[in-house]
Amino acid sequence: MTAVFQALEVNKGEAFTVGIRSLTQDELPQGEVVIKVAYSSVNYKDGLASIPDGNIVRSYPFIPGIDLSGYVVSSADPRFYEGQKVLATGYGIGVSHFGGYSEYARLPAEWVVPLPEGLSLREAMIYGTAGFTAALSIKRLEENGVSPGKGKVLVTGASGGVGGAAVAMLAQKGYTVAASTGRSEEAGYLRELGASEVLSREEVYAGGNVKPLDKQLWQAAVDPVGGTQLAAVLSRIAYRGAVAVSGLTGGTAVPATVLPFILRGVSLLGIDSVMCPAAEREELWKLMAGSWKPQQLDKLVNREVTLAELPQALSDILKSATRGRVLVRLA
Ligand code: NDP
Repeated sequence: MTAVFQALEVNKGEAFTVGIRSLTQDELPQGEVVIKVAYSSVNYKDGLASIPDGNIVRSYPFIPGIDLSGYVVSSADPRFYEGQKVLATGYGIGVSHFGGYSEYARLPAEWVVPLPEGLSLREAMIYGTAGFTAALSIKRLEENGVSPGKGKVLVTGASGGVGGAAVAMLAQKGYTVAASTGRSEEAGYLRELGASEVLSREEVYAGGNVKPLDKQLWQAAVDPVGGTQLAAVLSRIAYRGAVAVSGLTGGTAVPATVLPFILRGVSLLGIDSVMCPAAEREELWKLMAGSWKPQQLDKLVNREVTLAELPQALSDILKSATRGRVLVRLA
């Protein structure tokens, strides 16, 4: 590998800085697998890592980027070999362990997933953490009885990364998808991804006037938004349906009652992609590379950026100004 390489660094000195710097392999954190990064991506959490009060990064200076795909350069673990294509999301990556916004990364072998057949390194990061979270949400819903024949599935925050990937995968799997968005101008995009209905955020949010129980509209929901909107969603999930909640872009407080749970048997499923066990991770990535892979996966791509263009993309995602997924091209 090259002796000196480039990475995007955030630092908190007298001022908070975000900029490109040169690194050497000695400065990379401990781990068995050295990876030449091909792609990383921009997730909401990366946006938070790029601001002073985001509460994501544990210590400074730091290299963010919560996911990556690339080629193994060397491995002290026999499960991986030089030249192998791999991907990684979650764990400490981009939070407590230098992440994907770097031409090279060194990771513990336990965190590394072999790139499954049927997926390119670029496609792995079109999905990225957002797509993996969407897939985990769908898996958990199906484990709880959700299936294509049982009615519509709502996806909130549908113009975002998790939401868009959920719309596309659900449609691929034969579900009837209702997509909810705060951006009416993205209705055409959401239909292209496979939504058969596009709802405004206000319609789903019920203008903040949430009833404990309301008309049963959806068998299930994938919800990366949370907040008051989640309470509104829960009140309209059909009997024995389920909601998979993964995010908080709409807030952390959920002013709901127990009524959907005890009168309709609705399940609220928590989704955490970060510590998802390795075996489940690999299985899910295989599904995402196979029968769950949307034909229109590429439509999720907003744009590709270089390290130099990355600060703008990080700032955009915090303003909800990003449709779909932004890829970071390192190689
Ligand atoms: P994006 O910014 O790409 O998508 C978030 C979407 O949420 C926006 O595009 C917007 O969609 C919607 N939104 C934003 N603000 C509000 C608001 N005030 N009220 C209602 N909706 C809003 O982010 P990601 O897809 O990368 O992440 C989404 C969430 O999921 C984040 O909270 C993130 O931290 C979380 N997450 C959790 C993971 C886990 O393991 N649990 C893993 C990955 C992400 P629209 O304009 O269409 O309404």
